[in-house]
Amino acid sequence: MPVDLRSDTLTRPTADMRAAMASADVGDDVYGEDPTVNALEERVAALFGHEAAVFVPSGTMGNQICLRLVVPPAGELLCDADAHVVTYEHGGAAQHGGIQSRTFAGGLATVEAVRTELRPAGWGTVPTAAVSVEQTHNRAGGAVHPLGVLQDLRALTLAEGISFHCDGARIWNAHVAAGVPLDVYGGLFDTLSVCLSKGLGAPVGSVVVTSAALAEEARVLRKRLGGGMRQAGILAAAGLFALDHHVERLAEDHARAARLGEALGVTTETNIVALTVPDARAFAAAARDEGVLLGVVGPTRVRAVVHLDVDDAGIEHAAKALSALL
Ligand SMILES: *Cc1c(COP(=O)(O)O)cnc(C)c1O
Repeated sequence: MPVDLRSDTLTRPTADMRAAMASADVGDDVYGEDPTVNALEERVAALFGHEAAVFVPSGTMGNQICLRLVVPPAGELLCDADAHVVTYEHGGAAQHGGIQSRTFAGGLATVEAVRTELRPAGWGTVPTAAVSVEQTHNRAGGAVHPLGVLQDLRALTLAEGISFHCDGARIWNAHVAAGVPLDVYGGLFDTLSVCLSKGLGAPVGSVVVTSAALAEEARVLRKRLGGGMRQAGILAAAGLFALDHHVERLAEDHARAARLGEALGVTTETNIVALTVPDARAFAAAARDEGVLLGVVGPTRVRAVVHLDVDDAGIEHAAKALSALL
């Protein structure tokens, strides 16, 4: 078996997680009658200090719903050029929400960049309706937005009367790496989309976290997008299991990523090791021959993502194989 470092979406549910799924109480969630989904939604809302949460099939759907909650058709979303919402969601904001996206330089957001690019109403320009940031930032190698920057951005968006969205696919990693409580993150945003299927190891699912009023709208948007699921408690049970058992252990992934990074001469913040190489495709092919699968994210960029299914032996093997190739 190769060491598969392409993404942390590749985790398979553990035996204990499967047992929790098999024994879940279920009902029809479109009727609001699945007790396990309801428990998951209440728990995640409470974790982030918000009123409500909505279980959705994917992080992409979570983001798409949130963006429509905070940006009207033909309104403007402001985010960085490498953000998942404008890079990996196949133009969904434009297609589904009629949302115009404008970007500043790719990578972690800065207060300076947002202040410079933000366009208030009354200028004769398309007014910015919301700012979106990613925590952690996928294409920035799992980098964590410092809490102070997010707090300043919250102050700025409040002063401008616009919304603040968090693509928190890996916010759990930020929470563990930076030691920032989830409700402190939650308190900064009008909407968050958080993934259960990345580092937390659930097979499916993300959660939209927001106010009670917006959550009601989110349920309508979810249904309209075809994301209303029936006996989804089977899936929500995996999420609840992951919250119980797979959050604090993310520190192990971070330690392994740091070890791999050290061997390869790059620094890491969370579970992603980003490498610059002369030819990403050729490098990934050579790594594959050595039993290490990498993600190709640009012409000269590959990444290794550490997750639940990667152990110490896998990291040692990857460190040896990749340093030889470098
Ligand atoms: C993985 C990811 C998502 C959601 O992806 P899905 O595959 O749709 O669940 C959203 N944002 C970021 C930053 C991600 O890394």
